[in-house]
Amino acid sequence: DIAVEARNAVKTFGQGDHAVRALDDVSVTIRKGEFFTLLGPSGCGKTTLLRLIAGFEMPTGGQILLDGADITDLPPNKRPVNTVFQSYALFPHLTVAENVGFGLEMLNRPKAEVRQTTERMLALVKLEALAGRKTSQLSGGQQQRVALARALAPQPKVLLLDEPLSALDLKLRKEMQTELKRLQHETGITFIFVTHDQEEALTMSDRIGVMSAGKIQQIGSPRDIYTRPVNRFVASFIGESNFLPATIVQGAARLGSGHSLAVEGLTPVDEGRKVTLAVRPEQVRLTAEDEADTIRATVRDLVYFGTDTHCHLMLSDGEEVVARLQSPASGDAGLSEGQIVGLRLAPGAVQVLGD
Ligand code: ADP
Ligand code: MG
Repeated sequence: DIAVEARNAVKTFGQGDHAVRALDDVSVTIRKGEFFTLLGPSGCGKTTLLRLIAGFEMPTGGQILLDGADITDLPPNKRPVNTVFQSYALFPHLTVAENVGFGLEMLNRPKAEVRQTTERMLALVKLEALAGRKTSQLSGGQQQRVALARALAPQPKVLLLDEPLSALDLKLRKEMQTELKRLQHETGITFIFVTHDQEEALTMSDRIGVMSAGKIQQIGSPRDIYTRPVNRFVASFIGESNFLPATIVQGAARLGSGHSLAVEGLTPVDEGRKVTLAVRPEQVRLTAEDEADTIRATVRDLVYFGTDTHCHLMLSDGEEVVARLQSPASGDAGLSEGQIVGLRLAPGAVQVLGD
């Protein structure tokens, strides 16, 4: 069941030589009751896409649909959509309760309903005790809760959240991540959440749309995106990755060092293609010696990170590979700089990337 759909959405700002294509033919469907995250670096078009969905901005081309109906021409206040901004945008001279009830007052809802809904929303975000406080007297985290309660009060079908946690310090951000997940779960409202933080996206989302330069690069579950990135941008923006150039020869990926690696998902048309392989550092297995079925590598550097140790390796053709090894409880990783080791990559650990 689809809640929101962007169909070939294009948004250009400015004209002629100065035109910026903020969204370049974006198509995405967001399911009902889903926690969907738009993830990408600053300037990739995340806010623009949210603003098109909210109706603050008209697309240059394409359509926005809600519950299957074309709402492209509907003004923002006619859409069952609400937004939480990074800046909270609360009214400092109003109390917590007045802020939360504000949207309902604007909709001319009966006084009793405004009061009841406000109480329910304050309970939802655990701010009952602060109902009479001015929002200027609240901490950042409390203000964020008020902003959430206010946006949820009119019971929108879709809640848009534009980097709502980025102004909070790390500890509070972690707390609010859990809180947001709970709110989404309890209300069943479709959340479209924007962040540039890959860890936040991985831990919170049902599905993620990864964006870069005005385009959606990949859509999938956190696990899909992490384990099967479709291109180099996704593989390096989400988590870390080793990249190795290879050529497809007889259904396997041949490295510059001459080693052949079994890889999944190749078709006969791939034969002879030059490709890039992506391998997550934690998928690289090492053996203490260069055995028959391993790739010979030299340990260049060992960097201790606490729970794990990063081992920088060099292959015979000069390519570099990082292996992330679990640090032993005591002592060193049993490796030393200059040592020759064998590197093993399971077929499922190697992704063949498109452009
Ligand atoms: P994000 O939210 O991912 O950081 P934005 O959607 O804000 O990205 O911006 C995407 C691109 O569109 C950027 O290059 C930005 O400078 C440009 N842009 C956004 N809004 C405007 C505007 N009102 N006028 C001109 N350019 C804009
Ligand atoms: Mg933005």
